[in-house]
Amino acid sequence: MTALITGAAKGIGRAIAIALAKDGFTVAVHYRTSEDTAKDTVGQIRAAGGTAECFCADVAQPEQVTELVKAVEQQLGAIHTLVCNAGILKSNLLALTRFEDWREVMAANLDSAFLLTKAVSRGMARQRAGRIIYISSDAGLLGDLMRAAYSASKAGLLGLNKTAARELASSRITVNAIAPGIITTDMTADIPDTRRAKQLAAIPMGRFGTPEEVAAAVRFLASDAAAWITGQTISVDGGLCMK
Ligand code: NAP
Repeated sequence: MTALITGAAKGIGRAIAIALAKDGFTVAVHYRTSEDTAKDTVGQIRAAGGTAECFCADVAQPEQVTELVKAVEQQLGAIHTLVCNAGILKSNLLALTRFEDWREVMAANLDSAFLLTKAVSRGMARQRAGRIIYISSDAGLLGDLMRAAYSASKAGLLGLNKTAARELASSRITVNAIAPGIITTDMTADIPDTRRAKQLAAIPMGRFGTPEEVAAAVRFLASDAAAWITGQTISVDGGLCMK
């Protein structure tokens, strides 16, 4: 079975790619600019006995998404699991956020998931099997200071999640979201110390998370054990957001 993971060269995406490969998935490691690290992810998977290939695309661009899905299906076969993980973060006060920055975040984080879902759902429906998993964020549930575009894009994923889950259920495709809290990756590397200390204080478990802890939840949602779970959002956040 093939899994396509976007933004899988590093961070959370890389951990997801490695975890799904361990479960026997043939993994499409997608990247946009991080070619060397994407190749390294593929190398790690192969060294552990798994199967993986790299694919390059800007998932904010409709034509590139179409080409990406076509290339994965041609080279690795029908896509069983799609993980929409690629995303960007831009921080600024709402009043100072430029429209171009708002659009860039929406395109990378939300347009991409819409485009990818459309592109894979026909093939999954033909197989009468599929898993779509969106990597949202606690910011989409709670909002976050200086992150209007990011929070709105991640909240948008949750609306898409529920609609896609309802529409695709009859084709035996499940659609779920994961809302990570603060995970130690490049995306969170330059958070100022004062903000970092406040964030840490708000987490009941008293620490930031790891990419592998997010990957563990993806692994479950992609498995047979999660066949009757759809339209849900699972927070992986040390208790930051309790619903
Ligand atoms: P990361 O290390 O910065 O990885 C994000 C990846 O997204 C990058 O590898 C990048 O690919 C890819 N990407 C961004 N825009 C793209 C585009 N237009 N087309 C194709 N690929 C694109 O960040 P991360 O922390 O692992 O984040 C992964 C996901 O988890 C993101 O959606 C993020 O919002 C979400 N998340 C992270 C945290 C956290 O605390 N870290 C918390 C909640 C949610 P290239 O490097 O190849 O350009």
